[in-house]
Amino acid sequence: EVRVRFPPSPTGLLTVGNIRSALFNWAFARHFGGKLVLRIEDTDQARNTPEALGYTLESLRWLGLTWDEGPEAGGDFGPYLQSERMEVYADVVAKLMAAGKAYHCYCSQDELDERRETAREEGRPSGYDGHCRELTPENSKAYADAGRRPVVRLRMPDRPIVFDDLVRGEITFLPENLGDYVLVRANGYPLYPLVNPVDDALMNITHVLRGEDLLSSTPRQIALYAALAEIGIGSGRTPRFGHLPMVMGPEGNKKLSKRDIGAGLDEYRTQGFLPAGLLNYLALLGWSIADDRDVFTMAEMIEAFDIRKVNSNAARFDQQKCEAINAAHMRMLPPDEFAARTLPFLVAAGYLPAEPSADQLAVLRAAVPLVQERMDALGEAAELLGFLFAGTQLKIAPDAAAKVLTGDAGAVLTASAKALAEVDWTTAAIETALRSALVDGLGLKPKHAFGPVRVAISGRRVSPPLFESLELLGRDVSLRRIEQALA
Ligand code: GLU
Repeated sequence: EVRVRFPPSPTGLLTVGNIRSALFNWAFARHFGGKLVLRIEDTDQARNTPEALGYTLESLRWLGLTWDEGPEAGGDFGPYLQSERMEVYADVVAKLMAAGKAYHCYCSQDELDERRETAREEGRPSGYDGHCRELTPENSKAYADAGRRPVVRLRMPDRPIVFDDLVRGEITFLPENLGDYVLVRANGYPLYPLVNPVDDALMNITHVLRGEDLLSSTPRQIALYAALAEIGIGSGRTPRFGHLPMVMGPEGNKKLSKRDIGAGLDEYRTQGFLPAGLLNYLALLGWSIADDRDVFTMAEMIEAFDIRKVNSNAARFDQQKCEAINAAHMRMLPPDEFAARTLPFLVAAGYLPAEPSADQLAVLRAAVPLVQERMDALGEAAELLGFLFAGTQLKIAPDAAAKVLTGDAGAVLTASAKALAEVDWTTAAIETALRSALVDGLGLKPKHAFGPVRVAISGRRVSPPLFESLELLGRDVSLRRIEQALA
């Protein structure tokens, strides 16, 4: 069975890089009918808060990246919060020590720095030099008596570590570049290079798909896996690794940083991106469904996803493309869903109550066909549709008033009010009446004729189609707004 994991550190921010990793793992698990384990890497108590954990879970839920095991979901391999697994790590370290796979190192930082410097000057590898590898009990006691507290290091094998990366092919690491590395700090704090592979082993993870920035830790993790297998911890199988290409910033010359525009999830949520649109774009950061095709659903991605087809070249983050892909998904939504997803934005902007009336919902649904083709994100709903729900409180945008409600606008509005007072309240009849009153009657070009009416009823110079909008607003509200604009 395929078992993959997404192991975020809950620091209160999810970046497009994190989400891309989550997405690829999710698609991989779903493709094979396997399991996605959500493991929370929260050992750093200073940086991880319960709020940040809640935020992480809620964000994944919003995205629709469901997990099969982990917080809230449970599972047979818990606990899934590393902060609740400290005893597990202590126990594993004790066993590694007892088996001679790991050892205490008493070197001080100054000593390490000094020897590293010398090694560098002499052109030797500058990793840890194995100074404490073979300490006798007397040596150790002497250090301890001198008040030194040891770190724990893993004894690395003295041979190359070779693995077949699912994205990058065969990769070889030479032993001279793989010094014995620290698993546990002198204060007892277990580090990422320990806890991450220990949990992968104990949780029977079969495939590790993660960013290429973690590639350098992979040979060390493979060595730890082997040591764990030898002492009977975990499944005994080393997972397959696949390192996903880096996501570069818009300039293409450096890694997308969390400070870059478009790097954090929240921006997309506030603007009203659809999860399906955002995920579709993020999938393109390293993968494609076909050469001539950019837009696809998550169901299609799951069906087609192949980690072997992920491109190893760095991907460039392109916000405009992200917007365009989202816009395509906006057009694909069934109208009722479009209305339902628009609703929270109208509520947030104060145009609709949290529990709208049946009439309000009917207006919203009827308005969808007028705007669905022109909206690129749900957040535009307030600007475009708010006027339908503003009652008599409509505020006319100052620029619209200044540019349109001037000159002969008064005459236009008076003639419109008159024409609209009697007419049948259908789009077609409204259009005929206004054309005859303004274009034929006042001799205006359509552009000049309808501008003041549009501003009067919608408050803006850009609105959904005018005649349809009037019909949706109803005669009373329309006429009252025209009067107010005249006043
Ligand atoms: N907690 C690590 C991170 O968020 C996990 C990295 C991994 O996938 O191994 O970067």
